[in-house]
Amino acid sequence: MARFSDIIEQDQIKEHMQNAIRTGKISHAYIISGDVGSGKKMIARTFAKTILCENKQEIGGYIENCGECHYCKQAESGSHPDIRIVAHEKPTSIGVDEIRDQVCDDVYIKPYSDHKIYLIPDGELMTQQAQNALLKTLEEPPVYATIIILTSNIDAFLPTILSRCIVFPIKPVRDDLIQKYLMEKRKVVDYKAHLAVSFAQGNVGKAIQLAEDESFEKLKNDAIDLTARLPKAQISDVIARLQLLLTPEGSSEKKPDALLTNDFLDVLMFYVRDILVYKAEGSADHLIFADKLSYISSVTEKCSYKEIDNILKAIDRARNRIHSNVNSLMTLEMLMLDIKENL
Ligand SMILES: [Zn+2]
Repeated sequence: MARFSDIIEQDQIKEHMQNAIRTGKISHAYIISGDVGSGKKMIARTFAKTILCENKQEIGGYIENCGECHYCKQAESGSHPDIRIVAHEKPTSIGVDEIRDQVCDDVYIKPYSDHKIYLIPDGELMTQQAQNALLKTLEEPPVYATIIILTSNIDAFLPTILSRCIVFPIKPVRDDLIQKYLMEKRKVVDYKAHLAVSFAQGNVGKAIQLAEDESFEKLKNDAIDLTARLPKAQISDVIARLQLLLTPEGSSEKKPDALLTNDFLDVLMFYVRDILVYKAEGSADHLIFADKLSYISSVTEKCSYKEIDNILKAIDRARNRIHSNVNSLMTLEMLMLDIKENL
């Protein structure tokens, strides 16, 4: 498990946490807010593990956990009795009983070490009642307690909760730093790292997932192939292939998967942007899909700037419709027709 030196950027968060560990003044309540994959859990667990480590060391300017003591090993395997991760039964909410049982009552059971650290993942799912129950604990926590709420939606919290927590927003990480990390630490080859970074928009977890996930590579290839064949294809065949592509294996649902659909639209958008770049520059130097040059150059000859622009607008429209819950398969069908018309 990670150390502070593994956290890319986020200097403000690291500085605060380091200072807290150094002085022993650890607050009772934190909120770490950021998108899925941005590293909330990794940062929170690094903080918790380092607080509890019995043999902290100063390495490269950071106070780090040793990774070897009994507590570190327990933290790593998820079995440290003083790191409590709040679980919830329903996928869409964290109820008041869950917060009461796992935090409000549990917090009065004394820790084995000097600290007791609660992590609440998906904190935005706490119902108003659950938040009110938690608030009581936040108002008068035992000295040893620290509660870290992780969330992808900071707007979901009562102002009274926010005012009692130190809030850490996770900032998007610079592309070149993520690329360096992927290549050096994860041994990802350069063109793959570049592609993953282009898609991830500053989100380290997403970049790692894209770089290491073979299914994304397949989605990318299939999406571009499908689009390249559009001009000569029957729209019914295209939709059948799309449905296959966007429905996860083993899923009983006929509906396209939301995340896959989002990735598919991203691939299309970057592909069409590549066509635009290639048309303007006449070289492959700045292409994201440099490995698809033959497709890109053949389309570029046939498409006018106006047509390329029409396609980009159609992709945007489709994205908006899907965001506002319009039938996604129908929306994708309209999009494919739009692209077919302009290719
Ligand atoms: Zn340790």
